[in-house]
Parts: sequence; C-alpha cells; structure tokens
Amino acid sequence: MRLLLVEDDEDLGEGIRVALKGDGYTVDWLKDGASAVHALASETFDVAILDLGLPKVDGLDVLRQLRAGANPMPVLVLTARDATSDRIAGLDAGADDYLVKPFEVDELKARLRALLRRSLSRPQPVLELHGVRLDPATQDVSYRGQPVSLPRKEYLVLHQLLSQPGRVFTREKLEEALYGWEDAAESNAIDVHIHHLRRKFFPELIRTVRGVGYRVDKA
Ligand code: CA
Repeated sequence: MRLLLVEDDEDLGEGIRVALKGDGYTVDWLKDGASAVHALASETFDVAILDLGLPKVDGLDVLRQLRAGANPMPVLVLTARDATSDRIAGLDAGADDYLVKPFEVDELKARLRALLRRSLSRPQPVLELHGVRLDPATQDVSYRGQPVSLPRKEYLVLHQLLSQPGRVFTREKLEEALYGWEDAAESNAIDVHIHHLRRKFFPELIRTVRGVGYRVDKA
C-alpha cells in the first residue's frame, strides 16, 4: 500500500511514518501543501493522510484540487482544530474521514484499515488488453484465458502499465509505484520484472521506449 503523508510537524510526521512503515505501508512524506498538490497530480497513491494546517497551500485546498481532478483516492484528514465547522469543511471538501489531534497512532491505523477496506470493495474496472486480463478486485491475471500466477511486484508493474496503455512509464516511475520515493533509489529490479513479464506473456506486450522507459501499446 503506497501512502502519502502530508504533515508539516516533524515529530508527528516522523512518528506516523515509522509506525505505518512498520505495518508494511510504503510511506512518502511531504511537509507542505504545494508539493502535495504536485505529487498528487503526478503520482498514484492508495491512500493519503493530510494535515489541514500546512505551509504554502492549505490542506483543504489540496483536497479540493484533488477532488476537482476526480481522484477517488481515500483521504484521512488530520486537524488540530476541534471546531465542528472545520470538520464539516474537511468532509465537504472530500475527506473520507478525519482525526482530531492529538490522537493515538493505533486509532489512526484502525481508521486507515477501514478506509482501505471501503476503497478496495469499490468496484475497480477489469483491465483487458492484448489477451491479458487483470482483475484488480481479485488480483487474478490470465493470458488468453489461462491463469498466470505473478509475484506481487510483477503484478504491480503490470497493473501500472495496463492501467494507462500508451503512456510511457520511466523506470523511476515504476519503481516508485513499488517502493515509494525513499527506497526507489538504487535498483535495477524493474528490468528484471519486465523481463519476467515478457516471458510469461509475450515479448511485445511491454515495449521498451529507448532512453525513456516502458509502455503497453493501446489496443
Ligand atoms: Ca500543521
């Protein structure tokens, strides 16, 4: 699960980051609203934790911009303000849940699990292209009707590529989807995953765009 944490308080942010990383989340942490807007426009996350009081761009504005782009990702808002009007504003702007500071990290974890359960039970479209079929709800993959079993990371790479056919993904982009920004730095694992995927399906399924990255052709 790739999670975006937007929190300008160093201690709180670090506490959340460590706790969630320990629970297996890939956590990318930003400390102001402007970089959050940028990241949300260019990256894919499974869930976000968003502080409302942020430098540069307010958390509410980050949320409004996200929802204006019709991004359905679940967002949990953190607010220091216990005023009812702020909570209502957050929910109106498209938050799925909120926590008032200070809170227990266990409660944060429980709320996140609930959000993710809800979001995963939403119907997600089956991706079908070039004889390859990937069902995000069950994570079943098949090729020409035959089930194909994929390790987690190969599945994630294939999911990324199939979700936007025609788009070229750089190696870095694909690595981020797997590892987040922090751990993506030094790895040629993507090439290995691509190699395996080509063998399990067919070589031309994933095109190399020389000097740029990889793509799956549109049908
Ligand atoms: Ca803050």
